[in-house]
Formats: sequence, structure tokens, C-alpha cells
Amino acid sequence: MALETPAKTELVRDLLGRPLASLRVSVIDRCDLRCQYCMPEEHYTWLPSKDILNAAELERVVDAFCQIGVRSVRLTGGEPLLRADLLELVTRLTRLPLVEDLALTTNARRLARQAEPLREAGLRRITVSLDSLQPVRFEELTRRAAHAKVLEGIRAAAATGFDAIKINSVVMRGFNDDELVDLLEFGREIGAEVRFIEYMDVGGATHWSLGEVVSQQEMLAKLEAHYGPIERETGRGSAPAERFRLRDGTRFGIVASVTEPFCGACDRSRLTADGLWYTCLYAQQGTDLKPLLRNGADRERLVRRISAGWAGRTDRSAEERRDDPHRGVLYQVSELQADPHREMHTRGG
Ligand code: SAM
Ligand code: SF4
Ligand code: SF4
Repeated sequence: MALETPAKTELVRDLLGRPLASLRVSVIDRCDLRCQYCMPEEHYTWLPSKDILNAAELERVVDAFCQIGVRSVRLTGGEPLLRADLLELVTRLTRLPLVEDLALTTNARRLARQAEPLREAGLRRITVSLDSLQPVRFEELTRRAAHAKVLEGIRAAAATGFDAIKINSVVMRGFNDDELVDLLEFGREIGAEVRFIEYMDVGGATHWSLGEVVSQQEMLAKLEAHYGPIERETGRGSAPAERFRLRDGTRFGIVASVTEPFCGACDRSRLTADGLWYTCLYAQQGTDLKPLLRNGADRERLVRRISAGWAGRTDRSAEERRDDPHRGVLYQVSELQADPHREMHTRGG
């Protein structure tokens, strides 16, 4: 049964005047890869399964977020394709009348079999992560022999007829910064827009150093050396990626969260699989929405709680970290073990 469309939604702005328009839901904290920049340790503390919100609970909470402005929802993780009821969740969320844009970010390892069912469940946009086209390098990065499966998954998605496919590539100095052109060409071949991401000092990236970050400026210089002049597109709005165009019209994006953060326009927040809501990727504290969800709170109570949380928001951590001369890793391993909600794979990328 479709949920009723409210006559009017109550838009809320934070203390810096930013609306809440986008929600990233980490639907599971587990992952079947171990990317060095996200899950570099051998052992992790997983969220207890009894705490993971089920599809109906996630639908209720997303619906509440929509009442105060969210229109764009991205399912992420961990690895969302590991979640057993993912298709049910997608079906439920596509039925929410205020969700205008539902997307999913995946490592694509299990996508070959799931691309078609996801499209049939109503998913229209998909982002796949791919940092290297070289099998040995890929395995070194992800510590899993999954390159062939990932490429198969990406090609299957390209053949499935999603409205849009994007490829996310985290660029690390001395590791894959010689593959920018190859990745762009691969994107072109399969009809996907590539987004190069600066290596971020998020929770989980316990080996991060500023020296390994390849800046947007450097990426553009490398690409210009190969393709000639690159044009910057206007009208970015609140999108995390700045978009560019090659002379032949090929588009690509760069997410310059480290060197050119975009907190001033940030309309995003994040929900973990166990219902903790974070108003910033770097936020120290989250709001636990699970008790409300499990104690029978109605939509109005949920909306009031979220609305109050957003109204008091002042986060601009990426800008603050850019200006910190002593910038280093965000958390030590012991701090991540003490609270796994600080991990990128728990909080959702
Ligand atoms: N497992 C899925 C995947 O890899 O696409 C979804 C979750 S993953 C945390 C979401 C995105 O975060 C991926 O594109 C990944 O490359 C990015 N990411 C993770 N750690 C990062 C870091 N330290 N710097 C920049 N991006 C990172
Ligand atoms: Fe897993 Fe995605 Fe993190 Fe890689 S980036 S370890 S695929 S959650
Ligand atoms: Fe938004 Fe926080 Fe990232 Fe800034 S650091 S863009 S406020 S999530």
C-alpha cells in the first residue's frame, strides 16, 4: 500500500541556512571487500544483528525525513548487495511519493546477478566503485580476488538499462594516479560517468596522510596533459562533485572533499543500519532514532525529532579540517574499535 502524500511538507534549515535534501542510508555495515582506504584492519566489530533496522522500519524513517525536505536517497554501506532484503527495501522506498531520486552505491562484486532484479524493483540510478582496471593492483587494494567479478557486475549494470551509471574512483598518490585516463576511457566505453574522489581522512582511513591525496587541481592537470583543455561546468548546486567536460563532450566529476570542501552547500545527512543519524560525515555524535522507531512513535514524532536535530546543525568539518595545520588521521584504531559508528563502512560513504 502506498503511503499517503502529505498536503504540504515542512522544510527545515540548519543554523547556517542549509536545507535537508539528501539522505544516505548505510543499509549494512558488513562488506565483502577490504579496501585499504576504508577497511584496512584485519578485524572489525559488527553492529549486532538485532539492532539492524528492517525494511519496514527503514521505510518509516525515510518517509519521516521526506516530510522535512529529503528528496534524494542513496543506499550505501558497507556493501548494500549483502543485505538479504535489499529488493524489498528498494521496492518500499520507490513507493514513497516524496522520494524523487533513489540511488545505490555498490562495489559491484555481486552486481551481475542483482542488476536486473534491482532495476525491476524500481532502482533507476546506480554508482559502482572501481579504483583500478589492473587485476593485481585491484587485489592489492581490496585484499580480495574479485576484479573479474566486479567488472562483470559493472558490465551487467550497463546492459540493464539504468537511467544513469556512475563510477566512483578514489585516487591515491603512487597507487592509481596513473590510471585516470584509463578509468575515464572505461567509463566512456560502458556509458558511465566517472567521478574521481580525493582520498579522504574519514573514520576507517587509519593509514591516511595528506601526502597521498591527489588534489582536484593535480587530477585536472594530468587529464589536460592527455586530453587538452577541460571545461568546468556551472550550476553545481549542492552536488558533492564538481563536473567537467572534455573537448569531445565527455563529462566527468571530481569530489574534492579534502582540498576544496563544499560544506557551505551541504544538504546531506547519514543514517546507519541501526538507526543512528549523523548530520555530518565527521560528526562525533549521532541521534539514535531506533528507540522512537521501535517504541511505536508515529510519523509526527519522528519528524519533530529529526527537525529539531537539523535545526541546530552547524557542521562544516571538512572546511575546518582543511584549515587545520596539524591534520592527520581522524581516529586511531582503538577509537574505532570503541565505537564502530565512527567507521566509514558503518556510517556510509
Ligand atoms: N561498498 C560500497 C562501495 O564501495 O561502493 C558502498 C560503501 S563505500 C563506503 C561508498 C564510497 O565511499 C565508495 O565509493 C568508496 O570508494 C568511498 N570511500 C570509502 N573510503 C573513502 C576514503 N577514505 N576516501 C574517499 N572515498 C572513500
Ligand atoms: Fe567495502 Fe565499499 Fe569500504 Fe571498499 S569502500 S571496503 S567496498 S564499504
Ligand atoms: Fe557536509 Fe560535513 Fe561533508 Fe562538510 S564535512 S560536506 S558538512 S558532511
